[in-house]
Amino acid sequence: MTTYQEFHRRSIEDRDGFWSEQAQLVHWNKQPEQICDYSRPPFVKWFKGGETNLFYNAVDRHAAERPDANALIYISTETNEEKVYSFAELQREVERMAAIYQELGVRKGDRVLIYMPMIAEAAFAMLACARIGAIHSVVFGGFAANSLATRIDDAKPVLMVSADAGMRNGKPVPYKHLLDEACKLAEFPPQKVLLVDRGLDKGFPRVEGRDVDYAELRAKHMDAKVPVAWVEATEPSYILYTSGTTGKPKGVQRDTGGYCVALAASMQHIFSGDAGETMFSTSDIGWVVGHSYIIYGPLIAGMATIMYEGTPLRPDAGIWWQIVEKYKVSVMFSAPTAVRVLKKQDPAWLKKYDLSSLKHLFLAGEPLDETSHKWIMDELGIPVIDNYWQTETGWPILAICRGVEQSPIKLGSPAFPVYGYDLRIYREDGTECGANEKGIVGIVPPLPPGNLSTVWGQDERFISTYFSLFKEPLVYSSSDWGIKDENGYHSILGRMDDVINVAGHRLGTREIEEAVQTHPAVAEVAVVGVADEVKGQMPMAFAVLKDASAADTPEKAAALEKEVMKRVDASLGAIARPSRVHFITGLPKTRSGKMLRRSIQALAEGRDAGDLTTIEDPSTLDQIKAALKG
Ligand code: ATP
Ligand code: MG
Repeated sequence: MTTYQEFHRRSIEDRDGFWSEQAQLVHWNKQPEQICDYSRPPFVKWFKGGETNLFYNAVDRHAAERPDANALIYISTETNEEKVYSFAELQREVERMAAIYQELGVRKGDRVLIYMPMIAEAAFAMLACARIGAIHSVVFGGFAANSLATRIDDAKPVLMVSADAGMRNGKPVPYKHLLDEACKLAEFPPQKVLLVDRGLDKGFPRVEGRDVDYAELRAKHMDAKVPVAWVEATEPSYILYTSGTTGKPKGVQRDTGGYCVALAASMQHIFSGDAGETMFSTSDIGWVVGHSYIIYGPLIAGMATIMYEGTPLRPDAGIWWQIVEKYKVSVMFSAPTAVRVLKKQDPAWLKKYDLSSLKHLFLAGEPLDETSHKWIMDELGIPVIDNYWQTETGWPILAICRGVEQSPIKLGSPAFPVYGYDLRIYREDGTECGANEKGIVGIVPPLPPGNLSTVWGQDERFISTYFSLFKEPLVYSSSDWGIKDENGYHSILGRMDDVINVAGHRLGTREIEEAVQTHPAVAEVAVVGVADEVKGQMPMAFAVLKDASAADTPEKAAALEKEVMKRVDASLGAIARPSRVHFITGLPKTRSGKMLRRSIQALAEGRDAGDLTTIEDPSTLDQIKAALKG
C-alpha cells in the first residue's frame, strides 16, 4: 500500500509515469505518442498524438458492456417529470441529436452554444457535440440577453440549442425570448437555432429559416447511426466561462484527452465512485461542476448521474434526501451555500429518509465554514469532504482523495494538494511561505491534465491573467489567499482582491466570516474591507440570520451586533472586529452561488456596484444600501 504522500510525490516527480498509468483508465483509438509536452511554457499539451473521444468513454463503452444499466436520471420537481435513461437509451438519444447537428451543418471543431434549462435534452446536446467532435459552450440558462450576447460573440457558434423556457420555484423562466434578444445584440449570431419545446411558453415566436424544432427533427432521425469522431487529445472539447465573481468572466478552453483522463482518475481517487453506483451533483450544467460531475465524470466512471431541475426546498426541504434514498445515491456533490440554506430548515428533514447508500458528500465552490461543516457532517453521519478548485482547473486542486487515503477531516479545511498539483503558498515577492503563514495559492506549472489549455482565442490573456504574478518563478496564480498548517492541511482564506488590511494586519475575509458564523443565530455572512482614514481598512459584516426575528427591533439588533463582535474578538482579537454588523435577509451572489463581495464593498465605500451581469438577486443590493443608510 502506498501512502497518499507517496502517491502525490510520484505524480509530481515521475509525472509521465504517473499520468501514463492514469491514461489507461480511458479508451484510446490511438495511444498518445508523448505524455506531457511542455516545450512552450506555460502552455502544455497532454497526451499528444493520442486520439480519443469523450462520448465514447462516457457512454459507448458502458452501453456495450451494460446496456440496461442506469445512465441518466432526469428529475424535475418543477414540472413533475422523472425519466431514467439506460446507457443504451442515452446512446440512441445522443446519436439522434448528433444526426440533427449534422443535418444542420455542424462539423468537427464548430462551436455549438447550449442555452438550456436542466432537462435531459441539455445532456444530449452536450454529449452530441462530444460524439462528433464539435465544441460546446454551455451558457447558464437565465443569464440576461447581454451576457448571452457577449458569449455568442466570443464563441461564434454555428448552432444554438435552447428551449422555450425553464422553470424555477414553480414559475416559467423565459429562454427563447432572451435568446432572440441576444441574437439581435450579437455581432455573430448563429445561422440555426434548435429548440426544445417544453410547452411552457405557448405560442412563442419562431424566426423563419433559423429556428428549427427538436421533436420534429428527432422523429426524422429515430434510427440514426452517427460514427464517433476520434479527436486529437489536445483539441478543444469545450469552452466555459468562469463565474465572474471578480469581474469579467474568462472563457476557459478545455482539451479532450487530458480532461478525459483527469476525470476518469478523479472519479476513482477523489470521489471513490464505482460503475453501477449513482452520483448526485446538485449543480447546474452551466457551471464547471455540472460539466465535470453531472455529465462527464460519473458517466466515464460507468455511474448513473442525476440531473435535477428544482430547488433544495420544493416541494419540501427533504427532496434531495428523498432522491438519495430512491436512487441509492453513493456519491453526492453540492456547495456550502446549499448547506447554509438547509441549516435554516428543520433538521428532521435529514432524518426522514434512508441514506445508508451515501458514502460521501463533497462540497466546493466557496469556503466551507467550520460550523456548517460540523453541522452537516453530524446530521448526515458520513464524511463531508470540502474540495477546492476553479472553473479553470476542471477538477479539484485540494481535497482528501478518498479513493486513496482516509486521513482525518479537519473542519473548515479542504486538506491536501490533489495528485498532479504541485501547490505552494507564496509571499508577494515570489518566495514560499512557511507553515501557518498566509499567502497566495499558486501551482507550479505545467498544470496537470484537465486544466484549461488557454483562454479561448486569447493566449495573451492566459499568460497575463494566470502566469504574471511574479517575474520569477513562473507560477499559476489561483488569485486566492490561503494558508497551510504544520500537518499539511490547507485553508482558503478568501480572494486575494478581498484581503482586508487593518492597520497593517492582513485578514482574509473568510477568517472573520468564520468567526461570525460561530454565533448560533447566524446562517450566513459576508465580510468586506471598507476604506478607513485611520486604519487603512475596517471590516464590515452583513449577516443573514437563521431567524430574522432575532434582530427585528433596534434593541435586539444592537444586542446581537455586540454579541457577534465579541465572537470575533474571542477568535481573532479586537483588530478583526467589524466596525458594524448589519442584519439583512439575503446576500448578493452570483448565479453560481458565490458571494459578490466586490459589489458589497463598492456600496459600503459609496461607489457603484460594478459589473452585475452574473448576479442572482439584485434586490439584495437594495437591502445593503438600506442597511448602510440606517
Ligand atoms: P471569476 O474567476 O470570474 O472571478 P470565480 O472565481 O468565482 O469567478 P469559479 O471558477 O466558479 O469562478 O470559482 C472558483 C473560486 O471559488 C476559487 O478561486 C475560490 O475563490 C472559490 N472556491 C472554490 N472552492 C472553494 C473551497 N472549497 N473553499 C474556498 N473557496 C473555494
Ligand atoms: Mg476565478
